[in-house]
Amino acid sequence: MNNNQDILQLTDERWQAITRNDKSYDEVFIYAVKSTGICCRPSCKSRDPKKENVRIFNDVNEAIAEGFRPCKRCKPGGIHLPDEEWVTQIKVYINTDYYKPLSLEILADVCHGSPYHLHRTFKRIARLTPVEYIQQVRISNAMKELKTSDKSIAEIGFSVGFPNTPYFITLFKNRTGQTPKQYQKKQMEAKIDGEKQ
Ligand SMILES: [Zn+2]
Repeated sequence: MNNNQDILQLTDERWQAITRNDKSYDEVFIYAVKSTGICCRPSCKSRDPKKENVRIFNDVNEAIAEGFRPCKRCKPGGIHLPDEEWVTQIKVYINTDYYKPLSLEILADVCHGSPYHLHRTFKRIARLTPVEYIQQVRISNAMKELKTSDKSIAEIGFSVGFPNTPYFITLFKNRTGQTPKQYQKKQMEAKIDGEKQ
């Protein structure tokens, strides 16, 4: 039954069911979102996905076979996503979208759970809060940038998700013991020394 002819299209009817969170379609199909890797029931109250990212499946097992993970909130097919996998899902999102504005609310929205529950679960499993994790990812990306680019500190801060430069400098110093400028200078010197040898 599930051969290639059965690839389901995102018809207007299905799209409406998704945007209206129409419960009567829950047993009819499920949808997956390519940008988040999560699959949901039509009735899921999560934020409406972008239309071009949506894929339609007959049931949750088909979506899982394609690498999607069931949503933590609406539990398609009654499948509970283990907390560990949920936290991995959240981390993957942060690792790729760290430079965008991120808050607990945004994460909860994208990763399908309440902010409170997301914060607690993340902290229990990752042993740091989502916000601390976001900062860690941003700082390590800033370190990479500082090593390789001669952009200004403000530009680098901005490009990794710190539009507020003084805040970026303070946080960087707290984490690494040196300011971004000091770190950049040291890296450049090390690079020059390396080239001399
Ligand atoms: Zn959902």
